[in-house]
Formats: sequence, structure tokens, C-alpha cells
Amino acid sequence: MSNPDFFQMYRDIIALPSISSTDPAWDQSNKDVIELLASWFEKSGMEIDITPVPGTAGKFNLIATLGSGDGGLLLAGHTDTVPFDAGRWQKDPFKLTQDGDRIYGLGTIDMKGFFVFIAEALKGIDLTQLKKPLRILATADEETSMAGAKAIADAHPIRPDYAVIGEPTGLVPVFMHKGHMSESIRVTGKSGHSSNPANGVNAIEIMHKVLTQVLALQQELKQKYHNAHFDVPYPTLNLGSIHGGDSANRICGGCELCIDFRPIPGVMPDDLIAELKRHLAPVEDEFPGAISLEHLHEPVPPYGCDENSAFVKEAEQLSGNKAEVVNYCTEAPFIQQLGCETIVMGPGYITQAHQPDEYLDLSFVKPTTELIQHLVRRFCL
Ligand SMILES: [Zn+2]
Repeated sequence: MSNPDFFQMYRDIIALPSISSTDPAWDQSNKDVIELLASWFEKSGMEIDITPVPGTAGKFNLIATLGSGDGGLLLAGHTDTVPFDAGRWQKDPFKLTQDGDRIYGLGTIDMKGFFVFIAEALKGIDLTQLKKPLRILATADEETSMAGAKAIADAHPIRPDYAVIGEPTGLVPVFMHKGHMSESIRVTGKSGHSSNPANGVNAIEIMHKVLTQVLALQQELKQKYHNAHFDVPYPTLNLGSIHGGDSANRICGGCELCIDFRPIPGVMPDDLIAELKRHLAPVEDEFPGAISLEHLHEPVPPYGCDENSAFVKEAEQLSGNKAEVVNYCTEAPFIQQLGCETIVMGPGYITQAHQPDEYLDLSFVKPTTELIQHLVRRFCL
């Protein structure tokens, strides 16, 4: 039995909510989407491997494989979507709605729709002629912790030669982006009556010394690193929020600073944490045990591959678009850890992602389907 037509598949996948959120009230399992994908890719003759994602409840990754051994092509994407703002959607986010040359729905471009394109593209290829394996990866929780992609990078179950992640880049091959880190620096002092400073240890005064060091690191990163691919060509360090104390007549007992790093390729999250610790060491020496660091979320490493590689050149030629650098994060740094050349390229525009009335422009249908078919023929046949 063959798969339903393109629009029926699109309707079916959009109808299955798979929101991931750090807010438990929003967070949902992606099991229904994973099972739908399993049924599609089984019908294409692929072997299905579904694994629970460690550290999550009800979240799964799927790998569909055709052929055996290492190498070949991986087509990858995430099964989850962001939450939606019901008051701002004119359309039903879970009912695929066509209006003119657009189809609307949550996940149409970011990015459950990409799996519909893969299933559609495979209908037009003689898969009995495969010389290298074709694999499809569907992950969980990209929009929150990237736990699904991280689990794949850790378990390393596959070793493709090439990977394409179908995020909505407008079919422009993307070969580089910065990483993202959110870090908390917490200073613990000792509260006491304001009439005598000796009654306590003032956390705001310690934080003042911390801030001096953090600002020195900010400047150092700017001077030490340069990557001309980015408009902001160095790793940034942003001071995002600071909270401390409770009233003017108490010695401040606790103060927390939250910062955001955007690492560039070659500067890994661990490097930046080590730099931060080195800068804070003098304050730590003066006030032992007063400073604690914590990730506000797991760091997303930076990602980059060679823009002149044969793979990127091929993607440029097939898509008709010059490869680019972007300023958002994807699962690419984790997929790249499988040892494959990795690009991000898919239908729809990122400006419509995470927006009310998310839609796919139907002008993407033909070029995207053909592009996937070209990629499979080029790297697997
Ligand atoms: Zn996405």
C-alpha cells in the first residue's frame, strides 16, 4: 500500500499536536507524530528504529533506514513545534488550511512539513537501486532542550557521509551559525541589619567585582576572536538580567546575574565556561564559596562546515542559491558530531517560523520535492 497524497499527509501530520515547551502546561509527547512517520517510511520499505529520549517523558527519536552500512545521506528534522498564541492565530493551528497559494498550520515550515516532502519525494525514486544507505532522522524537543539531537550525538547510532536538516531556510544552503548559552552567576553573601556592615557579607558588593570581571571577558572575546562570516564577528557576551536583595535597610544576601553567550565555530561552550571561571577566580579567592555557576539550559554549540566543500557546492547548484550564514540555532552542531558534512536547507522562510498563521508558500512544493530527489539520487544511488 502506498502513502496518501501530499496534501493528505500534510493534513495528517499537522493534525497531531507535538508542542515542546519548558512550561509543563504546554509540553506534549511527540509519540503520535513519530508513529505517523513510522507508518509512512515503512511503506517506503524503510526499517524503523524508535528510541525514547533519555531525560524526557514521552519523547522519542525515530531513525528510518533504507540500505545498510555506514555512509550515504541523512535527511533530518525535528518533530516538535513551539506553542501557539491562540488569540493571534486567524486559522486553526492543527487543521491544514489552504488559502490562495499558501497552506497554513503549526509546523508547516518549522518543520513537520519537511517529513511530508521526504515521503512525497521517495515516491518518485526507484529505491531498489540504492548503493549507499538513505536515512531519515526525526528528533524530539528541538525547540526546548535539543535533547533528541543530543541523544543521537551521544549514542552515535549512524555514520552518514552527508546530512541535510530541513529547517525553513528558503531552500538556501546554510553552512554556519553561532551557538547559544544562557548562564547564571549566583553570588551568595550573608544578610544582616544595614546599620553595621560587619553584620553580613554584601552580595551586591561581591557582584560588583563579578561584573568587572565579566565585562573584561566581554572585551577580551571581542579582541581575541574574529570570524568574518558573521555580521558580529566575535563571540558575544550579553548581560541579560540581574536580581538581588530585598530592601534598602538589609545587607544583600543574594544576587544573581544571567548572561548569554553566542559562541562562534572554534570556540566551544566549555571553552567559554573555562574563560569565565578563570576571570572569576580572583573574586572566588577573596570570597570562597560565594560564587556558583549554572547553565540555564544546556549549551548549544556553534556549527560550521567548509563553505567550499563539494557538498555545499552541490547544494548551491541544486538549489540555485548561494550558501549563507544565519543568526539562529539548529540541531546542526549535534548532527555534525555523527561525522557527516552537514547543511541546513529546507522549504519556507524562517521569518514565518514561530509566528501566528505559520504557512508554507506552495511555490516551494515542486523545487523542494525535486531537490530531495536529486540529493537521494546523487548521494545514495
Ligand atoms: Zn525548527
